[in-house]
Amino acid sequence: MRKQLPLKISVSGVRGIVGESLTPQIATRFASAFGTYIGQGQILVGQDSRPSGVMLKKAVLSGLLATGCQPIEVGILPIPTILFLTKEKQAAGAVVITASHNPLDWNGLKFIGPEGLYLKASQVEEFLDIFHQGEFTFVKADRIKPVIQEKKAGELHLQKILNRLKVKTIKNRKFRVVADCANGAGAILLPQFLQELGCEVLFINTEITGSFAHQSEPTPENLKELCRKVKEFKADLGLAQDADADRLALVDEKGRTLGEDLTLTLAVAHVLSKKKGPVAVNLSASMVIEDLARKYQVPVFRTKIGESNVVEKMLETKAVIGGEGNGGVIWPEVHPCRDSFAAAGLVLEFLAESGKTLSELAQGFPKYYMIKDKLSCPSELAFRAVLELRHRYEKETISTLDGLKIIREDSWVHLRPSNTEPIIRLIAESKSAARTRTLIRSFKKELVDIIKKLSL
Ligand code: MG
Repeated sequence: MRKQLPLKISVSGVRGIVGESLTPQIATRFASAFGTYIGQGQILVGQDSRPSGVMLKKAVLSGLLATGCQPIEVGILPIPTILFLTKEKQAAGAVVITASHNPLDWNGLKFIGPEGLYLKASQVEEFLDIFHQGEFTFVKADRIKPVIQEKKAGELHLQKILNRLKVKTIKNRKFRVVADCANGAGAILLPQFLQELGCEVLFINTEITGSFAHQSEPTPENLKELCRKVKEFKADLGLAQDADADRLALVDEKGRTLGEDLTLTLAVAHVLSKKKGPVAVNLSASMVIEDLARKYQVPVFRTKIGESNVVEKMLETKAVIGGEGNGGVIWPEVHPCRDSFAAAGLVLEFLAESGKTLSELAQGFPKYYMIKDKLSCPSELAFRAVLELRHRYEKETISTLDGLKIIREDSWVHLRPSNTEPIIRLIAESKSAARTRTLIRSFKKELVDIIKKLSL
């Protein structure tokens, strides 16, 4: 028998293996705690395409009803759609049954607060206190509300995006698109979205079965089929969503993956060309963002890793665009969350207005080479090792917001101990592939030496 993996509880929710650490009892307890924490309002309940979603949904509904909340079932929907709808419908919160890109035997719960924002760390703490203490506010029978079913709620989300795009201009280009939904929740809405934009689309992996066609992270190794189909279909571009449809990767008309950073680059460039304003991105996004900000004379705010950190900064600074280098574009005019639909809309509009091909557009930006790597290191040493490195590089321009980032004229290195695994993540970027490789190699070596010394 395999060892039972514990339930993973973090700021972004709870995840576990169905039938082992994640049982209906646990799900009901979490929903009861959330209902108690939120206090009897309307709560959206959505899910991704995993077959275990139904079982967990019933358990979640029980907990919410028992605490006097009114659940609104929205069915299988992309995560950005659920975040958007929570605000749009002025609900008190939402529970989403999803385990993002984890394998099929996993599932989890994500909790969303009012305004359609993920709970902040302090709010999660308060909510988890209720969970651990089991102090739930159950209501009497006469105060149990009926469950509301909402079908097609997702269209509101698409409409909000379409209202902000030059639909006619996009339609005139009659784009040929290959779209890969990774058999995830994006497949629910992407066909309609691209149809409204007049695209001729070849879809792959749109079976909403939860059995992901490939590893659902839209990284180059997972997009080989999409690249091939783009060439076969003679498409203008390929779009790849991840399983919960908050991230988007692009393939150009030649069937080449463009790197997830480029999705953010295109979105930032396009939005800034129309509306000048602050930009917020995390510490690991490409330095091309600073180039763009210089061009439009707007400030860039860098944040800790994690979507909610970027969102918080964007709201604080009234940023007009932002996101993460992993294809997570945040366009606050639609909703402050990573949204692959908003990202796709912006990219198509940029292409349509420029009259260029995607590879031509991509070539229009300064070229940087980024490498993401990691180094095994016992967790108790990882923070000390990075701290030691920080002392050595104190005289340079550094950021210690999240691990250590050393920022030089035309390169940077970001070293970050993982919170969940015994590793240190290393990311570097420079103007040449060889330089980036050298940067990674030398910092890795320096870290290895430090770790060796620390463990003596
Ligand atoms: Mg995702």
